[in-house]
Amino acid sequence: MECCNSKNSHKDFATQCNACGKIGKPVKKKTLEHLLKEDRVSLVRDTQYYFCQTPYCDVVYFSRNSDTFYKADLKVRVGLKETEEPIPVCYCFGYTRKIIVEDFFKNGRSTIQGEITKKVKQGICRCEVTNPQGTCCLGDIAQVLKMIGIPS
Ligand SMILES: [Zn+2]
Repeated sequence: MECCNSKNSHKDFATQCNACGKIGKPVKKKTLEHLLKEDRVSLVRDTQYYFCQTPYCDVVYFSRNSDTFYKADLKVRVGLKETEEPIPVCYCFGYTRKIIVEDFFKNGRSTIQGEITKKVKQGICRCEVTNPQGTCCLGDIAQVLKMIGIPS
């Protein structure tokens, strides 16, 4: 019976992207308010939003009541969803994928990774309101290095 289908359970529905159907990552309202274009901010409701991590999906944020914000609704480029430079990775200090890769080959190691780690420890990053994912970029930097074949 349709109503007993576990795929339709409310819990799954609540966190699945309205477009691609993949499970989203919870983000704070604060993150949306800082990164959405000015004319979009008023549409943000008092509800839980999720970030869609699917690279080919145009949706960035969604909620269980079908609120949907697309790439074009944001003031910044969502690195995870871009294939052409500039591909932002670290939003607090403005490092793109290209800069991170070039730094690695120039120095034989990632000085940027070390620098960001240091700054994070000093508490001078603002990932919550600069990074569309609302989280620290160090994981994404490790991902970039892994992509060019460097074990993290
Ligand atoms: Zn999606």
